Amino acid sequence: MSGKADVIIVGGGVMGLSIALHLRQLGVGRVLLIEKRFCGAGSSGKSGAICRQHYSNEITAALARDSLRWYASECAAHFHRSGCLFFTDPAQAATMALNVELLRSIGINTEMCDTATAAEIDPRLGLDDAPAVCVEPDAGWCDALGIVDTLQERAATVGVELLCGARAERVVVSGGRAAGVELESGTRVTADVIVNAANAWAGPLAATADINLPIRVTKPQIAFSLRPRDGHAASPAHPIIADLIHGFYARADLPGQTLIGGLDIEADPEVPDPDREPEGIADDMVEDLNQRIARRIPEMSRSRSRGGMGALYACTPDHHAIIGTHSECAGLVTCAGFSGHGFKLAPEIGREVAHHIVKGGYDRHDLEIYRPSRFAEGQPVRGRYEYSLLG
Ligand SMILES: Cc1cc2nc3c(=O)[nH]c(=O)nc-3n(C[C@H](O)[C@H](O)[C@H](O)COP(=O)(O)OP(=O)(O)OC[C@H]3O[C@@H](n4cnc5c(N)ncnc54)[C@H](O)[C@@H]3O)c2cc1C
Repeated sequence: MSGKADVIIVGGGVMGLSIALHLRQLGVGRVLLIEKRFCGAGSSGKSGAICRQHYSNEITAALARDSLRWYASECAAHFHRSGCLFFTDPAQAATMALNVELLRSIGINTEMCDTATAAEIDPRLGLDDAPAVCVEPDAGWCDALGIVDTLQERAATVGVELLCGARAERVVVSGGRAAGVELESGTRVTADVIVNAANAWAGPLAATADINLPIRVTKPQIAFSLRPRDGHAASPAHPIIADLIHGFYARADLPGQTLIGGLDIEADPEVPDPDREPEGIADDMVEDLNQRIARRIPEMSRSRSRGGMGALYACTPDHHAIIGTHSECAGLVTCAGFSGHGFKLAPEIGREVAHHIVKGGYDRHDLEIYRPSRFAEGQPVRGRYEYSLLG
């Protein structure tokens, strides 16, 4: 490893890879991506990778809308269009309807639907609690590692240098600006711009440049269950379900299998050291998630558990990412803290962050709302109607 890079990116997840790819496509000369293990070793490789557009602010929803289009067209082999149904308390029906109108106003294909229509979409649903429902027919989910591999291949093809198995120990600061990265081995690599895309590890890395990132690392857990079989045929795939009443989300997974996760991210245990956190799931969590889904899809009470896994969320106080250059340390760009919903946004965020680095400002989406200083300014990202924790 010698010479000077134009941009160093720390972190080989979907964000780091997407930014690297776009930087090269914008003509940046030497782009070096440093990953301490392998690409996809962090949250990206373990993600539910659900791509829905239901957000409560226009900017995040538009990022999800355009990124979904990218995944569906550019990575069609790894994208499964399944549609998504959202369930909330009937008392929130009016707020949900307002949010649906907000989404429709920016071109997102979504609508409220009554329970009879929901039952037509999937007759296995249990709807006795008369939930408020909306549907997003274009939503889908990705094979997370298929996407990581695709981004990695494309990044390598356009000339991004990938240094895997190397840990960035600290950001080197000189004259008040980021000037490079020191690796665990002691090697120093210099660059004009350093991008911190280290997700759950972003806080400690930023601290080496005296930057405080308000990121709390938690451990969400996901369970896998085999849907009941009729003879040898498993019950077919269902749409994605985001159920705010029973507090879970679910999507189809490998043939015959369903992935289930919890939606109450405040309840996820905090992780003191992401490097030492076991990746398994607690037995009582498997049980809990299976009970939750059986309340919405009763036949899942006959599902067979295949265990699950635990991974990491990097959560910020408003559950939105921290993106932008730090005024206290020129040349240091953070793109982290996606609070459990970053996979779906990576294509557009990568494009915008690359634009920000090369040309200044942003291109199609104004990411200023995610600026690092917003918490100190008392201006967290807020939804227009704020009826859920879906962002
Ligand atoms: C269980 C689970 C389910 C999820 N479901 C969804 C979903 O359905 N939809 C959705 O949109 N999002 C979902 N997410 C969130 C989404 O997966 C993440 O927001 C996204 O993958 C973050 O990507 P990233 O590139 O920022 O981070 P990561 O993929 O975590 O990448 C960061 C990388 O940085 C590396 N690294 C860290 N520190 C250093 C260092 N010092 N030196 C070198 N390398 C370093 C790590 O090894 C890691 O590979 C889910 C997350 C989890 C955990």
